[in-house]
Amino acid sequence: PSAELVEAVARFMERADGVRRLGVRANADTPEDAARARRFGAEGIGLCRTEHMFLGERRPLVEAMILARTDAERDRALARLLPLQRQDFTGILEAMDGLPVTIRLLDPPLHEFLPDRTELAVRLAAAQARGTEPSAHDRELLDAVNRMHEENPMLGLRGVRLGLVAPGLVAMQVRAVAEAVVERRRAGGDPRAEIMVPLIDTVEELRLVGEEVRRVLAEVSEESGVVVECPVGTMIELPRAALTAGRIAEEAEFFSFGTNDLTQTTWGFSRDDVEAAFFSAYLDKGVFKVSPFETIDREGVGRLVGIAVAEGRAARPDLKIGVCGEHGGDPESVHFFHTAGLDYVSCSPFRVPVARLEAGRAALAGTPGPNGRAREVRSA
Ligand code: PEP
Ligand code: MG
Repeated sequence: PSAELVEAVARFMERADGVRRLGVRANADTPEDAARARRFGAEGIGLCRTEHMFLGERRPLVEAMILARTDAERDRALARLLPLQRQDFTGILEAMDGLPVTIRLLDPPLHEFLPDRTELAVRLAAAQARGTEPSAHDRELLDAVNRMHEENPMLGLRGVRLGLVAPGLVAMQVRAVAEAVVERRRAGGDPRAEIMVPLIDTVEELRLVGEEVRRVLAEVSEESGVVVECPVGTMIELPRAALTAGRIAEEAEFFSFGTNDLTQTTWGFSRDDVEAAFFSAYLDKGVFKVSPFETIDREGVGRLVGIAVAEGRAARPDLKIGVCGEHGGDPESVHFFHTAGLDYVSCSPFRVPVARLEAGRAALAGTPGPNGRAREVRSA
């Protein structure tokens, strides 16, 4: 692009930034993505998904955790994950120095996280066919994976449920965040980590995890002599959470709408099967004009958002509220979130400029909405 065009776009963006009330953050899980998001004008990270940090080369550590027979074995596996997680967070906090970074506790549906059953079974069968001794590790793993198999993993043991039943997991992740904060502070940085709990249905889940989070933060503060305080908040991504937001806000310092799961569970549509034939038939027949996974469904999901914003703020007037589902970067949805009175939207790094523009247009077009508030304090 020509220098004039670049200049014109920059002026345009400056104008949008000058009028918009919504903050714009990015969803990023790596220091590289965080740095890119910052170059695009992101004012923090609204969602750092930590499940990606358990895949790839780290799978053997996860397998060791799954196969652990004793507390000591499990703790050893977690202890090997800890420095890796700490390193992940240090890098992201450094890239976003001075800006909020919302780190979400582990939320994989089990099928994404466990070794693949079919692959294991094929490997074992191949060994048998060759007449060689099948690997004992593979056999044990297949047994464990079979025991944990779920017919409906997206509605199963994921999010906070996993955190509450897998001993040591939440503590390991929170320790990694806290130690990364200490490391960055000692290096003269300004790390602003926030801890977010996924897939909350009831305030009790948040109360239990919140206690664990505060216990670990206090422990690391004590050990290091550096006071680590991180706001603890929750995703609102199930209808029950939206409908009981007033209660949940008693335990949450911030809300972030997970509109991907909220759309899935409100409509009862699998978010992983939107390519399915009936979905395109619905689009063809005009049941809806655009996919509710793309643009916020104002009548259904949007009403749940409205209820949660109103009840959440009634219970806790300073509750910070954002959205980190795909809708956070969709132009029409950004207008909706502006009117609904959210504090920020969070989207993929590449959609940040569009979100900034649309947030500016929304501010020029309309009123701040019934729950409207001043936008987040943003650094230059
Ligand atoms: C969501 O559900 O909207 C969300 C942001 O979480 P994830 O996409 O990781 O389930
Ligand atoms: Mg979700």
